[in-house]
Amino acid sequence: MKCENYGLNRSTERDNLNLNPLQRGGVLSSAAREALFEFSDGYSVCDYCAGRLDQISKPGINSFLDDLATFINADVVRTVNGAREGKFAVMHGICNEGESVVVDGNAHYTTHLAVERNNLNMIEVPVTNEPEFEITVENYRATLEDAVDREQVSLAVLTHVDGDYGNLVDAKKIAKVCHENGVPLLLNCAYSMGRLPIDANEWGVDFVVGSGHKSMAASGPIGVLGVSDEFVNKLLIRSNRHTKKEIELLGCTSRGAPIATLMASFPYLIERVKKWDVEVEKSRNFAAMMEEIEGVTQLGVKPTNHDLIRFDTPHFHEIGKTHKRKGYYLYEELKKRKIVGIKRGQTEWFKCSTYGMTEDQIQYIAKSFKEISRINNTT
Ligand SMILES: *Cc1c(COP(=O)(O)O)cnc(C)c1O
Repeated sequence: MKCENYGLNRSTERDNLNLNPLQRGGVLSSAAREALFEFSDGYSVCDYCAGRLDQISKPGINSFLDDLATFINADVVRTVNGAREGKFAVMHGICNEGESVVVDGNAHYTTHLAVERNNLNMIEVPVTNEPEFEITVENYRATLEDAVDREQVSLAVLTHVDGDYGNLVDAKKIAKVCHENGVPLLLNCAYSMGRLPIDANEWGVDFVVGSGHKSMAASGPIGVLGVSDEFVNKLLIRSNRHTKKEIELLGCTSRGAPIATLMASFPYLIERVKKWDVEVEKSRNFAAMMEEIEGVTQLGVKPTNHDLIRFDTPHFHEIGKTHKRKGYYLYEELKKRKIVGIKRGQTEWFKCSTYGMTEDQIQYIAKSFKEISRINNTT
């Protein structure tokens, strides 16, 4: 064993403009950076715990969870270790083995794994044709009604904003369809909670999950699980032996820096979701500038309603065919300009996000792509 430093040094965010959509919403607020330091030791939030993580009052986890419930308009909120753990817990608590779950066709892979791990059967709602790849209320209704006729459907899952196209669905209308069919709905807000306002009760969703490290300026891993009153008793059952502990959460979930950073970022989140329309506007402008490059088109619904944008980029792919650095040129040219977040070697299409960047930075990024698009094929 040669205990080297394992390459634990990172200045990606400090030195570059990072376009990776996965990482844009998880950049910490300055308050969270301080909390990260103060709560960096293991179990650091447990100094005054009396047996229930969600009831700790120093630091004020109990009042934080109440405020978080208000923020997303859910009846009861718990933290979990990620959006995926939230989805798993809901399926595990609500569905019985062998039953069916209806899932939208843009669902994240972690939804599929949660279904598999629970031994459930998955029925997928098809997306519309390219380039929109949309989940429509009509398709959701058709698939759900057909499924309900034939099998025991115990849950519907809907991805609020998907991670492939950044399409935003109409949660309220789809929730209504689910309830007309007697099926509860879980809304996956990994890409929305902490970026845009979430209104669980107004939309009529029964469960909602969010991701602290994806969209809530927390170091994570941490997720948020919101539950409506109707399902609290079914989902949050207590242990017979350890009577304070909630079984589905295995007693305690996030305990330390992950929850401390989320709590520290909360006031910042409250403010930033109010400015969501500004982010969408910036994102639309960016997409429009990118589309000025011939051979670059935005996929998904247009104009976009989110900061995650997927571009189809045959032009950039074409350049790579004859460039001496092959498909690596795009990554390398961007890197020279201190822009990162697009995978090495990827040129046919890519996803990116300018969430939280300034107008000047976005202009600079678009200008850089334009410059690179004019690269002479043989240089
Ligand atoms: C990123 C993502 C997840 C996973 O979130 P975790 O908090 O890491 O579990 C789930 N669903 C969607 C739609 C995502 O984009």
